[in-house]
Amino acid sequence: MIQFKNVNKYYGDFQALKNINLSFNKGEVTVVIGPSGSGKSTMLRCINGLEDIHDGTLLVNGTDLHAKSTNKTEIRKHVGMVFQHFNLYPHMTVLENVTLAPIKVLKKDPEEARKTAEIFLDKVNMLDKKDVYPTRLSGGQKQRIAIARGLAMNPEILLFDEPTSALDPETIDDVLDVMKKLAKEGMTMVVVTHEMGFAREVGDRIVFMAEGEVIEDREAVEFYENPHDPRAKHFLSKII
Ligand code: ADP
Ligand code: MG
Repeated sequence: MIQFKNVNKYYGDFQALKNINLSFNKGEVTVVIGPSGSGKSTMLRCINGLEDIHDGTLLVNGTDLHAKSTNKTEIRKHVGMVFQHFNLYPHMTVLENVTLAPIKVLKKDPEEARKTAEIFLDKVNMLDKKDVYPTRLSGGQKQRIAIARGLAMNPEILLFDEPTSALDPETIDDVLDVMKKLAKEGMTMVVVTHEMGFAREVGDRIVFMAEGEVIEDREAVEFYENPHDPRAKHFLSKII
């Protein structure tokens, strides 16, 4: 579904991604871990077309993201993203936040968009808050709205960048439970997280990054049992 071949990414002179070779496959949940600054967010942002790659090939559903002709809006119809800080519009109700992109980008009929939005709001247990403004909600509630908003675009793959890092501890599980439910339903997901309980429960594959490189890319169970790289061993010993 997503394939990196010899991808490099620079910010000015600084190389943030170094020769990345990697695939994310349909139906798989991949958990991406690694120290702060190792390039995890950059990798997700490149997939979504929020950042340009320098060279190499990055295919998203067969579309070459590096090709100048690629329309980034098209990519966002296939790839949903959930950020650490929700990015909801404060002046719109929950329902309006979820229906905005389907109406504007997918040109859906507003009534149809509302029906779909309500199905996804129900899925994240937030239907009763559909007419509320986001400022009245907890971080965990906002993040579940952000997940519903992502789902409403009917993406083939959903990327999560530290979705629980900004949350109060008591609301983290509500968000992780929603993500576990999606994983069980077969959603293709790439999740950057430090939540190792979640990673162990639903992660099919672990990608460990350090200093802009993919250091390990293995079946989750194998990785936990026997991380090869000393940096991965060190990271795991700190985080668990
Ligand atoms: P992670 O998500 O693993 O913490 P990032 O992908 O955010 O790492 O960042 C990787 C490296 O790239 C870091 O050293 C960071 O400082 C740098 N970086 C990230 N975004 C930018 C940017 N817009 N401009 C310059 N440097 C950046
Ligand atoms: Mg990051």
